[in-house]
Amino acid sequence: MTMMKHEMGDALVNRILLCAMLIAGISGLVLLHGHIFPASMLVDCASAGLFAALLLCRAKISTQNKLVWLVMVGLIIALTAIVQNPYAPDGYMVIGGVVAISFANWSGVRALLIPALAVAALMIVTLLLSLNIISIDSQATQAQNTPEAWLIVALTMVLLSIGIGGAIHELKTRLFKHIFLLEAANQRLESYAFNDENTGLGNERYLEQRVDADLDAGTKGCLLMLKLTGMDLYHAIYGHKKHGEVLQKIARALQAGLREADVLAKLNGPQFAIWSPDCADSDRLYRAIEQRLEADLTLARYGIVARAVAVVAPHYGEKYSALMKHLHLVISMAPGDGFSGCLHFTADMERQIKARLALKERIRLALDSGGFYPVYQAKVNSHTHTIAGFEGLARMVASDDEVPPGPGIFIPVLHEEGWMAEFGMLMLRHVIADIPEFSRRFGADIKIAANVSPPLFLFPEFAIELAALLSQAKVDPRALIIEITEEVFANDIDIVKKVCRDLQELGVQISLDDFGSGFSSLSFLQSMNFDEIKVDQSFVRNLERDEKSFLLLSSICKLGEDLQCRVVVEGVESAAQLGWVEQTHCAQIQGFLFARPQAVRDIVAAIDAGGMVTSPA
Ligand code: C2E
Ligand code: CA
Ligand code: CA
Repeated sequence: MTMMKHEMGDALVNRILLCAMLIAGISGLVLLHGHIFPASMLVDCASAGLFAALLLCRAKISTQNKLVWLVMVGLIIALTAIVQNPYAPDGYMVIGGVVAISFANWSGVRALLIPALAVAALMIVTLLLSLNIISIDSQATQAQNTPEAWLIVALTMVLLSIGIGGAIHELKTRLFKHIFLLEAANQRLESYAFNDENTGLGNERYLEQRVDADLDAGTKGCLLMLKLTGMDLYHAIYGHKKHGEVLQKIARALQAGLREADVLAKLNGPQFAIWSPDCADSDRLYRAIEQRLEADLTLARYGIVARAVAVVAPHYGEKYSALMKHLHLVISMAPGDGFSGCLHFTADMERQIKARLALKERIRLALDSGGFYPVYQAKVNSHTHTIAGFEGLARMVASDDEVPPGPGIFIPVLHEEGWMAEFGMLMLRHVIADIPEFSRRFGADIKIAANVSPPLFLFPEFAIELAALLSQAKVDPRALIIEITEEVFANDIDIVKKVCRDLQELGVQISLDDFGSGFSSLSFLQSMNFDEIKVDQSFVRNLERDEKSFLLLSSICKLGEDLQCRVVVEGVESAAQLGWVEQTHCAQIQGFLFARPQAVRDIVAAIDAGGMVTSPA
């Protein structure tokens, strides 16, 4: 219905056509006045009335069906006129109008239907006339053959043609207008897709296309990345507008130091890149950037540090993505945040990159082929020194020729590659599968902890997945502790709370690991209801040389006790440290002094051989 209104609402086209029809009607009236052609006059008047009604009632014609009926009536009127006198043009003109209206309002098969009907009707009339089934009023024919009649008919036809021509012109204009608007919209979209709105520079997609096109054409070049540290803080302090202005200023400064052929682009985040075609050594580019950075002293004033690194293509990659990977790796190896300047791509860096890629491949292979397993470190009761539980810690299966990398090496790679959730699920499966063995050996109350990183903890439906794992392995959820670190609070706190609640409703306990190392907030302790807090190892490490560490450690233990939350002190290596720790209110102790992380089979073997060491060695 709305479509119909729309189509009829395309009023200008209809209006022109209908005017033409009115002209035909008026010409009929003129003919009637001169008593020239009474029969076809009736037709003209009827068709003029019909089309005038169509024009006036346009807004009320709300369905396609009604328009079809009106068009059909028009056709019948036209055919009546033709049968009356096939030599009179009036009927044909009405058919022309009807056909034009159907084209203006419909498209495709439907638009062709009316002309097809008209042609079929005309053929039938012709056939009937040629077979003498209907006959022509010869008097009327005679009457038409006067110069006045033909003059008026000719005039009417010219006016009708002008009307139809106008309609076609109008349609064409509209079509061009639409095409123009579409093209403009398309250009705008393209500019969004390839430009950085703030600086007006090309974005990473644009740069990638340019670099890849040049490399595919055999052009050598140099790709430089400029990373700005401190921009986030600047944004937080000075706001969006000023932040944008600084980026614009940097863009202008960089552009001023470049050749015409060089392409400067703004990457995501506080990063720029420059592609310099036909540049075989990165030094020229470095110098250009260095000069610009030195000239622009404002950066340092705002606490923004700029670091640049460049690689030569195709030596370090035949595609933009490969070159960028190198640049990111090199920049991640750069000395700390205080460094400002250009990094040279050294052979040592190349070696490190190769080693990093090999490590990544090795870790991926281990993930795919069961190359990770847990070892368990005992947690002992702080008063009795009996085993209270174990913490599962991941290890990599050793290959023949080398010592496998430890968690300190493979966990950052897993994080960077986005494999942490997958790895976490794998480790959880292992730990849950080992729980029945621990329960058999140490009793049903033994609790086994698994470390879970934020990507897995916040994975949608993590609690449901975990419940399924536990029920498949027929493990009581109360035997499992999930250790999370404070990093998790960098995410939406309501989601974190919900996951904690879901897990605790299941019966699983939640432990806050490495407490005091990150952005600890006492408000988290108050709002989250943790079952356990594990104090960061740094407090124990500093006990002997820093009195404050002891004060903090004992305060945390007291706080935990008041909140009815078990406090575990980690990293106890020496008897002296134990002496300090025993003066606190901690519930459990974990550290090399009591036990090192061991594989399940070694723990079982130790028990079989006469019991595990549960008192200080
Ligand atoms: P964490 O969760 O704080 O685990 C305790 C780490 O301290 C373990 O290192 C353990 O071997 C070590 N440790 C225990 N007692 C002592 C001690 O007395 N002195 C010293 N110097 N160290 C001690 P590990 O096994 O190398 O693990 C390092 C970190 O890697 C873990 O710290 C944890 O954050 C992460 N990690 C290990 N396994 C997993 C895992 O399966 N999933 C996740 N998400 N992270 C894991
Ligand atoms: Ca832990
Ligand atoms: Ca810890």
